[in-house]
Amino acid sequence: MPLTGIEIFKSLPKTNCKECGVPTCLAFAMKLATGKAELSACPYVSEEAKEKLAEAAAPPIRPVTIGVGDRALKVGGETVMFRHDKRFENPPGFAILLSDTMDETEIDRRLERFKQLEYERVGLTLRPELVAVKSESGDASRFAGVADKVKQNSDGGIILMSDNPDVLAAGLKACADQKPLIYAVTKDNAEQVTDLAKEYSCPVAVKASNLEKLSQLTTELTEAGVKDIILDSGSRTVRQAFEDQVLIRSAALSKKFRPLGFPTIVFPCEMTSDPMKEAVIASIFVAKYGGVIVLSDFQGHSLFPLLVERMNIYTDPQRPLATTEGIYEINNPDENSPVLITSNFSLTYFIVSGEIETSKVPTYLLIKDTEGLSVMTAWAAGKFVADVIAPFVKKCSIKDRVKHHKLVIPGYAAAESGGLEEELPGWEILIGPREGSHIPAYLKMWKP
Ligand code: SF4
Repeated sequence: MPLTGIEIFKSLPKTNCKECGVPTCLAFAMKLATGKAELSACPYVSEEAKEKLAEAAAPPIRPVTIGVGDRALKVGGETVMFRHDKRFENPPGFAILLSDTMDETEIDRRLERFKQLEYERVGLTLRPELVAVKSESGDASRFAGVADKVKQNSDGGIILMSDNPDVLAAGLKACADQKPLIYAVTKDNAEQVTDLAKEYSCPVAVKASNLEKLSQLTTELTEAGVKDIILDSGSRTVRQAFEDQVLIRSAALSKKFRPLGFPTIVFPCEMTSDPMKEAVIASIFVAKYGGVIVLSDFQGHSLFPLLVERMNIYTDPQRPLATTEGIYEINNPDENSPVLITSNFSLTYFIVSGEIETSKVPTYLLIKDTEGLSVMTAWAAGKFVADVIAPFVKKCSIKDRVKHHKLVIPGYAAAESGGLEEELPGWEILIGPREGSHIPAYLKMWKP
């Protein structure tokens, strides 16, 4: 049974020192009890209390890692139902499906796509993480051969999929050092697959036909000493799978129901044969609350929107993405090139820099730290006004790089032009476009 806030409070130091970021030990205990704080936030808990509070301090949804090294995927560890309460922690992984009945050419093509499909967006690299190898031939050596090929030709995590423990064992022999996800324990193979998970120390998925049976299986597994579990509720209709995701998370967070306190795996690839519908279904599980999302194939036009959606859902809604303050050189500028300035909201930066690149006009772009706020919001908050912009322009040494002293400010900050001319003697302040899309035309008319 999980501990109540009062029970946890009894084991805390009761000094109300506030170092955990909460005003009192009691308030911290209450947060701990609801999974909204971590015990490590209090530096003064005794070792004895730590042991006692271990269960209460454990995240209500266990974090599980698939794979090794830099590209290992960590899923689970979530503590909230809604991202406005607290950010979601660990984005779901996307897996491409390979069957051991596919011919070599098709397998090679898919592995190549898995490697090639990666994108830069707002300074981040977006890419999928997993390759799921499914046994459809029933041939253990064929399955092991494909698992080995994936290991040799990709740095992604691996999912080994079969109901047959012998086939899984062969796959594990080929790639156990990559810590693949074993899929799956069912009621019919529970003992053998549990033994494999223990022998190779790999995470294991558990599949059942409903949540009650799933809970029974996870209880058996945890009692047998297997902790790294991923849940498959067995549903293959969108509606039922969606309901299951919500129920699983809700049971783990609200009821502290440990048998369902694990990340999930979902199979949009088995819910439709239409690739575009499949992508739409996957997008539902990015938002609620897939841990691993298995797709029948990867195509750039459907994978990219999913990667962007995932990035957006798993950013902290209370902290806008920001770009580093500084001078950015675009299209090889020289001493006659225009100087534009804008805020460090990442989206603003990428739109403005993208438009400058498109214009092909060599340009200096000054990025002022506005704590990730867009131009208008930063201006309204006093973070993009004359007496903040001017010290930055002076300090950043842009005046040594250009012969002219003309500074183009965003149209939305036009009200600051007078103040800037006062604060930056010798500079001419020009009002640039309001919209990023008008920047190329503006720059083409530029004269130093
Ligand atoms: Fe209490 Fe520990 Fe928080 Fe200090 S850091 S207020 S001792 S819970």
